[in-house]
Amino acid sequence: MIDLRNKKIGIENGMWDNYGLDCFRNCPQYYEWRIVKGVIKPGAKRTSADFGSGIHLALEHFYKNKMSPASIPEAVEKFVQFFQPKVDPADEKRTLVKGVELLEKYFNRYKSEPFDVTATEIGGVVELGDYLYTFRIDLLVEWQSPKGLFGVDHKTTSSINRVVAKPNNQITGYIYGLSEMYGEEVLGYILNSIGVYKEDEEIDKNAPKVISPKTGKLVYAKKEREIFIRSITSRTKKELMDWKQETLHLISQIKRCHEEDVWPKHTNFCSAFSSKCQYLDLCQSQDKDILQTMIDIGIYEQSWWQPYVGEGEDEEEGK
Ligand code: SF4
Repeated sequence: MIDLRNKKIGIENGMWDNYGLDCFRNCPQYYEWRIVKGVIKPGAKRTSADFGSGIHLALEHFYKNKMSPASIPEAVEKFVQFFQPKVDPADEKRTLVKGVELLEKYFNRYKSEPFDVTATEIGGVVELGDYLYTFRIDLLVEWQSPKGLFGVDHKTTSSINRVVAKPNNQITGYIYGLSEMYGEEVLGYILNSIGVYKEDEEIDKNAPKVISPKTGKLVYAKKEREIFIRSITSRTKKELMDWKQETLHLISQIKRCHEEDVWPKHTNFCSAFSSKCQYLDLCQSQDKDILQTMIDIGIYEQSWWQPYVGEGEDEEEGK
């Protein structure tokens, strides 16, 4: 049995996970800083990741206890205990009250599920050509009819309508891993998306416009926002083989970057999300040795990416 807890991913150990591969897909230079050099910028705001981790902890407790009514208040308490010390007063979207309300709505909606829980938080490592591929999934369930296994990923997001279950390298990798472990029993994957929003309502562009009481003009009506979407997805054998081929191709590109010590900068990614890339200071410098100086003065710190420890749950993975 391989002890994965302190294993690093990358060429050196011949082991990969989706996070590391995504770093390279997004920006090879990002991959070098994050995976090869193992540095992060400390002090970056983590409210989004912490909120997601708190929700995950609550759902893990609920499913681990076979969705029993008694586990619901305990799950909410788990969220409160975890997130209370991490609340950012400036963040109006991810408050303690919002989190509790979100969980209450979730448990109300999903108190009776069409599946039995097989296990929570499963880690796995499978062969991928000459390499190993490691993954960790939130939940494994047995669907009642038709009988079979589904992996489940809880995803907190502030863009619920933009979540795509297929194509999705992470999900295909999960299904590949589960299929290697459980064979034909695996039917697919469920992306359990949970929307995190400041407002409970959204504009309804499909409904007839209404007269605004404030301006007297015609405006879009509002409707209650959809905050829970379950996307059920599967992969054919051909799709799994294509993913394997593409992933091995990507690894060969990483190998070439190592050999030539060339790490292309995908500059479209520098400001792809709500905040700028944490490595901007490093990429703006022409001095190759700047990293050590920045570590010495505390702007960056060494923190190797470990697949089984992770950095919390965040819709903006890779940043
Ligand atoms: S600053 Fe831009 S080029 Fe540099 S690692 Fe980040 S995304 Fe890549």
